[in-house]
Amino acid sequence: MKMIKQLLEKFGHQDFLPLQEEAIKTIIDGQDLLLVSPTGGGKSLVYQLPALRLEGVAVVVCPLLALMSQQVEKLKSIGVRAEFLNSTLNPGEQDDLAYSLRAQSIDLLFLSPEKLLQPSVIGLLEHAKVSFFAIDEAHCISQWGQSFRPEYGSLGLIRKNFSNVPIVAMSGSADTKTQSEILRSLSLQSPKILQQSYNRENIELTISQKRLANKQLLNFINHEPHLGSGIVYCRSRRKVEELSLWLNEQGITSLYFHANISDKDKEKNLRLFSKNDNIVMVATSAFGMGVDFDKVRFVVHMDLPNSVENYYQEIGRAGRDGRSARALLLYGLQDMQKLLQFEMEVNFTSESDWQRTLAFCKILEQRGCRRKSLLAHFGEEILDCGNCDRCKNKEIEHNVTIAAQKFLSLLHKTKGGVPFGVLIQILLGKKTKAVDSCFGQAMSLFGQGTELNETSWKKLVRYLIANEYIMIQQFSPFQLALHEKAKAILKSNIQVVINEDYFHPNHEVLPMPEYKKKLIQWHTNTGEEVFSPKQLDLVAEHKPKSLAAMSRLTGLAKHVLEPLSPPIYGSSSIGAIS
Ligand code: ADP
Repeated sequence: MKMIKQLLEKFGHQDFLPLQEEAIKTIIDGQDLLLVSPTGGGKSLVYQLPALRLEGVAVVVCPLLALMSQQVEKLKSIGVRAEFLNSTLNPGEQDDLAYSLRAQSIDLLFLSPEKLLQPSVIGLLEHAKVSFFAIDEAHCISQWGQSFRPEYGSLGLIRKNFSNVPIVAMSGSADTKTQSEILRSLSLQSPKILQQSYNRENIELTISQKRLANKQLLNFINHEPHLGSGIVYCRSRRKVEELSLWLNEQGITSLYFHANISDKDKEKNLRLFSKNDNIVMVATSAFGMGVDFDKVRFVVHMDLPNSVENYYQEIGRAGRDGRSARALLLYGLQDMQKLLQFEMEVNFTSESDWQRTLAFCKILEQRGCRRKSLLAHFGEEILDCGNCDRCKNKEIEHNVTIAAQKFLSLLHKTKGGVPFGVLIQILLGKKTKAVDSCFGQAMSLFGQGTELNETSWKKLVRYLIANEYIMIQQFSPFQLALHEKAKAILKSNIQVVINEDYFHPNHEVLPMPEYKKKLIQWHTNTGEEVFSPKQLDLVAEHKPKSLAAMSRLTGLAKHVLEPLSPPIYGSSSIGAIS
């Protein structure tokens, strides 16, 4: 074990994180392994370290090109012989790689599943000594999962072609069903299965009613106690670009990332994000698989992710350094409807996808500690966490059985032909055009639902949808249908109790002062941590009018500051990140 400890130091670590040591020993002993550990759990080390200890090359299957080059660069910087094999290599580079593989002068080889499946690549590896295969993001094998990738489904080929080479499958989120698919698909033989807790106590969880979401976001970012980077997830590419632009206009340095930007821009934005401490990356879910950034302080979801697994994996990108971090999810009834409709119409591949999405909606509408509900989904039991919106704010519950009965009756009466918003208007007694057009004023329930306000009605409808009392109609965006189950509520066999939603404030936040904005942009552009967050605050507050004054204020020597050209209060402007 002494050797392993020494190798650990090579990676800059003193001790193992949970499960790492056991996983590493399993690989060194040549046993197949399935390791399920949340994002940030330190899975990379589990294959990197044995790769140095074992003879031959460890082949790592990794889903994203941009990340391979990043990992390789990082490993090379600490003297590990790592390479990647992808389509960006020219024939000369490929020949060099083939030579190095045969000469056993590479410890780690990264490639995509597509590449690994090419006969020429299999041939190449057959002539090299492969110590083990590591399959990162192995849940992509599962057809039951959201992230199914067909090429991952063919990775069973490894066992056929390399029958004696151990296989290590790793995943940040694999429930029991996905785990059995991984085991079966890769034909793992008597594997050791190691699974780590999903609990990430350092991330404060806030799930809030959405209202003027951009302002809620701004308020959230501007209330960060320290400057820090964050990721903001949106579902559409257009929204990603627009929101990033808007944030920049508000003085918050922001970049964006989605599947449709060029590889060059992806790499540039990844690099800028990784090198700077206070950037907001606005992105679709394309940003993240395998992304490893220590200092992400917050993750915001402006829309609903497709499943608990996606949500949990995405928020898991915050606070990977173990320090406190925050996650905010904003959503409303429309989001839930859109998501379910999307699953139904666009993405409807299987009943299981649908159930998965519905399970997520149900968790969102559950009462009690957020973390408790989320972890229960992964089979873990915990006490109330004390670090979520439900634990931090006193939960106010209401028995709304009668209101639910009114809504369900109205829905039944109108045969699902009236949009939910109009049904709510009828219950609230609003004399709008939409209410008129469906003769709402003549209905006996007109104005009979004033015990709830509009927000609470929407909350109640969400609850009814998530718990399958009412269903979203296929192909009709805002219409609902009654489920057989709803009879239990109508007959008062079931009581409906909901809690008041937490609402993250959206009040106007003061725009960041011009000088502070410049200062942050300059700091970001230097690509280094010149000032600590505290020093940055100090400079922004005291606005030094000369380099000497800045030097006195921060304790950083003038000759260190000078070449970096920090903005001096009252001097010319500094350009934004291009
Ligand atoms: P995962 O792949 O499970 O999401 P990573 O391998 O990217 O996680 O590791 C997450 C972070 O934890 C990285 O910054 C990594 O340097 C750090 N890390 C890994 N192993 C250790 C360790 N033994 N001690 C301290 N930090 C570690």
